[in-house]
This record gives sequence, C-alpha cells and structure tokens, in this order.
Amino acid sequence: MAVLNRLLRSTTSAANLTSYLRRGFATTVATDSPQTGSFTPSLTFKKDPQDRNVQWIFLGCPGVGKGTYASRLSKLLGVPHIATGDLVREELSSSGPLASTLAEIVNQGKLVSDELIIKLLSKRLEMGEAAGESGFILDGFPRTINQAEILDEVTDIDLVVNLKLREDVIVAKCLGRRICSECGKNFNVAHIDVKEENGSPGMYMAPLLPPDHCATKMVTRADDTEEVVKKRLQIYNEMSQPVEEFYRNRGKLMDFDLPGGIPESWPKLLHVLNLEQPESRRSAAA
Ligand SMILES: [Zn+2]
Repeated sequence: MAVLNRLLRSTTSAANLTSYLRRGFATTVATDSPQTGSFTPSLTFKKDPQDRNVQWIFLGCPGVGKGTYASRLSKLLGVPHIATGDLVREELSSSGPLASTLAEIVNQGKLVSDELIIKLLSKRLEMGEAAGESGFILDGFPRTINQAEILDEVTDIDLVVNLKLREDVIVAKCLGRRICSECGKNFNVAHIDVKEENGSPGMYMAPLLPPDHCATKMVTRADDTEEVVKKRLQIYNEMSQPVEEFYRNRGKLMDFDLPGGIPESWPKLLHVLNLEQPESRRSAAA
C-alpha cells in the first residue's frame, strides 16, 4: 500500500464534535421530519488503522462500473460494500423510523438531503460495528463537499479510488445497457473497440450479451438516451470536482483510468492497490 498522507486531525473535542453534528442534523429536523431529530450518530467509528480493516471510498461517474469494482474488492478484503443507493432502497422497504420521511421526499421527486444520507450511513456503520464488521468500501458517497466534511468528522478515510473512463466510452456503454423485461437481469450490447490513436491508448470492452431466452425481451431504460446520459455526466462532473479536490488536498485521492473492461481493469486495479489475486489470498473469506 502506498503511504497515504494522514491528515493531522484537528483537536476538536468530543463535545464540539457532537455539537457540530447536532447542528448538522438540526437542519434535517426542520426540513425532513420532526420525529427523526433525536438521532445522534455514534462517534466510535474512529479507530487506529492497525486495529481495523480498510476504510475506502469509490468515486466515479454513473456508468463507470464503480459498483462492480467496489463489490469485488469488498469480497476480496472481507469488508462490507456500502452503497448509499442501496441504503435508501432498504430503508424505504423497511418499517424503520426514516422510511416514511424518505418515502415523502422520494415521492415528491426531491433529492435526499446530505443529513439524511449521513443518518442512514451512520446507522449502517453502527449496525456493522455491532455485528463485528471492520472497515468498509463506500460507493456513491460522499456526493457533495458537505457530505465529505461531515463524513470526515464521523470516521477516517484511508483511500479514495476515483475511477475514470473516457467519456465517449461511458456514453457508448450507457447506450448499450439493456434489461430483460422478464427476469430483470442487466446486459450490455455495446462492443467497444477503440483503436490506439495519436498516443491515446486503445480500449477494448466486450459486450455482456443475454442468453437466448432473454434476448427477445430486451428493453432500454427510458433515461438511457445520449442527451440524458451526457447531461448526467455533466452534472456528475460539476458535483464531483470539489469532492475530488477535498480528498486530493488531503493526499488521499487515487485516480485510476480504467484501461478497458473487467478482464483488463481488475488485475491492474489490484496491482496499484498492492493487492494479490483472489486465488492466492483470503480464499477462506470468500
Ligand atoms: Zn431474462
């Protein structure tokens, strides 16, 4: 593992920290729901790196495949893969205290606030800690500088992996997405084979084709049009830049240019992370 510059943490006292977090959540109480105001996150997520597993973040635009890589790495390292999108969906389908608040926000088509996302994440981390989990890989979080700052107060992040892919390839990948209308499985018909040109490397990504029984039932998501995909990328880039800067300034950001599909990218990603191939490592943890 490359040596990561650990920021000298400020000497914020626990009382100040609690007050800071309460202040953060106070806005939630006003805008989201009065019933959820009593929640205070546990402040016990900070541990000596020697005594715990990795605490990493995966950043990357929609369609880059960060869920895939984060999920594979979490299995390899034996840490939970925590995707905030999943947390929202799970809470919505539960009878938890935040479910009705969330349902209201989502039904009104509003964005779930930073504070509410932090609550869900804190709750997830607390549950994990109680269950003996150690470490995590966060996926889709933090999305804003505000979330990054709050997260920084709640826990320590060791490394932020920023997955990058050429925009023309991302667009082609998104336009190639298909879903089986019967079984719901995801496929991708895009066959990406970019030739090396003017010094920029070529790239190959094999399609993920459906089996025969799904092939006749393929549908495209309504929002996977070129215009919408490009707009989504533009919004992501604008939002993510300050978050990337936040971690770059702390010496924690590692940009990783995906060299192709999973067969091309996975071994290189393991290599830059100083990890070994799954076969020779942690076979018992699988
Ligand atoms: Zn199917």
